Amino acid sequence: MKKIEIKTIFNEQKNRENLCVEGWVKFNRDNGKIVFLEINDGTTINNLQIVCKQENLANFSQIKNYKFSSAIKIIGDLKSTNNQKTPWEMLAKEVIFLKQANDFPVQNKEQSNEFLRDIAHLRIRTKYQQAIMKIRAELAFAIHDFFHKKGFSYISTPILTNNDCEGAGENFKIVDDKNNPFFPANASLTVSGQLNAEAMSMGLKKVYTFGPTFRAERSHTNRHLAEFWMIEPEIAFCDLKELMKIIEQMFKTIIKKTINRCQDEFNYLTQKTQKNMVAILQKLVTTKFVKLPYEKAIEILKDAYAKGHKFLDNNIFFGKDLAAEHEKYLCENYFNSPIFLYNFPSAIKAFYMKQNKDNKTVAAVDLLVPGVGEIVGGSQREDDYEKIIEKCQQRKISLEPLQWYLDLRKYGYYKSAGFGLGFERILMFITGVDNIKDVIPFPRYEGYLKY
Ligand code: ATP
Ligand code: MN
Repeated sequence: MKKIEIKTIFNEQKNRENLCVEGWVKFNRDNGKIVFLEINDGTTINNLQIVCKQENLANFSQIKNYKFSSAIKIIGDLKSTNNQKTPWEMLAKEVIFLKQANDFPVQNKEQSNEFLRDIAHLRIRTKYQQAIMKIRAELAFAIHDFFHKKGFSYISTPILTNNDCEGAGENFKIVDDKNNPFFPANASLTVSGQLNAEAMSMGLKKVYTFGPTFRAERSHTNRHLAEFWMIEPEIAFCDLKELMKIIEQMFKTIIKKTINRCQDEFNYLTQKTQKNMVAILQKLVTTKFVKLPYEKAIEILKDAYAKGHKFLDNNIFFGKDLAAEHEKYLCENYFNSPIFLYNFPSAIKAFYMKQNKDNKTVAAVDLLVPGVGEIVGGSQREDDYEKIIEKCQQRKISLEPLQWYLDLRKYGYYKSAGFGLGFERILMFITGVDNIKDVIPFPRYEGYLKY
């Protein structure tokens, strides 16, 4: 008797005898003489139907009491059926009850995402979360694969830090023992691995991080978490134009790969949400992303307002940090395409971004996508030591904890560029899920630290 996983059964599509399957009960119905169990073992989102006939099973009368999510083991024969929905089923010769699930709070009936969010330790047992998390895992793999094939080195950057890379004051401070401090300086959780990634790129040329990031975000939106994952590539000798090329290529490659590897998951999500993400994504991977200078975006928005479009915030001017509604207008109403928004006013962007020749903008780029908004933020870095010091001073950023970083400019730092891709943001985009809390296993946000 051989143990087999359900995914293998569906992949192999072979009649086989005396196989053993272990899993959890997902459906249980009977017609008196036959009990039909659907079980899932987590290797695929698809359930295997088990046919339990009275004449084959000594414990037949108990089987109909096996509840949702209880663990069982079945020994039986695999048979193909003529039924499209369940092309393979197992005829049980022995059904062994392993562990009951008593009063399990999630039942077969549809549960709201809000309800499931608050039982994050159990929601992975729903097909919906299984599908999202399998896509999450495949997407992570596709990202590593993309950078590996392009010759990038995967690096780890510190989680504990004494700098605030983004200068937005969103660092979570570590409470240290005042009388006997562990660290010599202010310790906090990192908001970005970029500064360290830049240092590493000076020896490895093309690097990327893929790690957790922490921001004390007070904004209660459906696209911000306090703990999220970010991919941060950094490339020496790269400028803004080349950077946009890499972002676009990465985006299209990882999406194609993920769609291919997650066909069952996408089929299920389409059925459930009535949003055909695969069709949307397939169109996207063949369209060229729009490149839009910030200044032009301001003109478009002003024009829209002049022609009668009402924003919540209609005060649009050069220098404004665009809100989600403005990004949405550009992306969804005006272009209906992903947009590279670039050359932002220097005052609304971080200190490390390269000053353009116009002296008012920096070589920064955000990638905006329909449905989600900003998904990538990147820039060419300021390479001029004097200029970057001046920027820090203007912004009253204390130089001391950053001196090591600024010093990179003194040692053969000619040029580099990089970006941060929010892993949960791209996952929202790909799956069509509209709340970021549903694409991470255990979400953390203001006021919430369960599980
Ligand atoms: P936003 O304006 O949406 O807050 P940001 O400008 O603060 O984004 P960056 O500092 O450029 O973002 O970070 C890079 C990427 O990380 C963003 O494009 C986004 O995809 C992701 N990201 C930023 N903050 C969060 C967050 N709180 N939760 C989830 N993802 C985030
Ligand atoms: Mn932010």
